[in-house]
Amino acid sequence: MRNTRVTILLLAMAAIPACAAEIAETAEAPAAPTGPPLEVRFQPGEFVYLWENNGEGTPLELYTAVLQNVAVVNRTAGPISLDEMTLSALRDDEVVQTVTVDADALEAAAVHFYALQHQKVLETYDFHFQVSRYLKDVPLAGTRKLKPGEAVIVTQRALLFQSVPDTLRVSVVGRAEGDTFVSGSGTVRVVNHESPNSYGFPVSGRWLVAAAPSLHGHHRWASIQEFALDLVQLGEGGLSHRGEGTELQHYHAYGAAVLAVADGKVVAASDGMEESDSNLQQPDETDRAYFARTLELQQKLLAKGFAAVMGNHVSIEHANGEFSHYLHLKNGSVGVKVGDTVERGQHIGALGHSGNSTEPHLHFHLSDGASSGRGSAARGVRSARSAAAKIRWRKNEKKK
Ligand SMILES: [Zn+2]
Repeated sequence: MRNTRVTILLLAMAAIPACAAEIAETAEAPAAPTGPPLEVRFQPGEFVYLWENNGEGTPLELYTAVLQNVAVVNRTAGPISLDEMTLSALRDDEVVQTVTVDADALEAAAVHFYALQHQKVLETYDFHFQVSRYLKDVPLAGTRKLKPGEAVIVTQRALLFQSVPDTLRVSVVGRAEGDTFVSGSGTVRVVNHESPNSYGFPVSGRWLVAAAPSLHGHHRWASIQEFALDLVQLGEGGLSHRGEGTELQHYHAYGAAVLAVADGKVVAASDGMEESDSNLQQPDETDRAYFARTLELQQKLLAKGFAAVMGNHVSIEHANGEFSHYLHLKNGSVGVKVGDTVERGQHIGALGHSGNSTEPHLHFHLSDGASSGRGSAARGVRSARSAAAKIRWRKNEKKK
């Protein structure tokens, strides 16, 4: 018997270091002609979206945010050894929380990402790490001792707040030659987004949200799909399939109608990608073996481009610059084309298993840019990431 499993689209990353310390920034750091000795870059830049955690329909007054990608670049003409990075959450210029990334963690990050770059993993998973967008032509250091122009990447820092901060600040300190103290810092805003649009649900009936935007889900770690949902249907015994689940037709969700969540215009529609039973977990296959096989398949798909990962899919542009995306649709089911106007509740395709899918499910997300649909999702549009926070789901009914 197997539990419901859904697409895994990330690499599990390090936990958050727990100790806290506040670092004073150095006003008297030696001024390089181009700015501070250590430059802090963010990707996505400008802001992070906050997620409000709810209990049974009630806000718990706990909020999470993920700082996706941060890089520190040595802007001086000599080597700099990084000593510590501090992530601070601020409200009205007051620090409400700090998390420290110590020298050992910085060293580990440098070693890790240097290896990933040389194994071409950063290139393959560019939708995730987005190095091409914020560190183009910047060499990564293999240690926390940065040569001139080199960078260290720190990713996927999850933060939990008891109140809503307005800013995240990343400060970094290190030592240049002669033990000269150097520093740098950067900030991004924290946005507690509430969509101005009203959305329906992309399927009708009773569904299990198999992967939600919590920190336990896999979507949260890639900004383009941070608040996505993976939807499946359960049947007898709490399983998503009948029998052994070795055929697509065994799955309760397979072929279900997928519905436009709001009025809009189709900006991407692709069909014709085949689905296969062969990438379902086999009855005699261990989780470990299946995970390895899935990862291999995922990398093959990524090598073909992001559209192959999405499978048959539809993207719709809605009011206020928001987009909805429906992935892994059934081959031959997509009933809309680019340029079509659709209404909320309109049947646009059928739930399927195309692309990077471990069992028939609907991957659905909203974004603040056309992040899916044209070539590589992560590179298409600046600031493209999910904006599904605080959507009030309503029954999906066509407008009268
Ligand atoms: Zn998904």
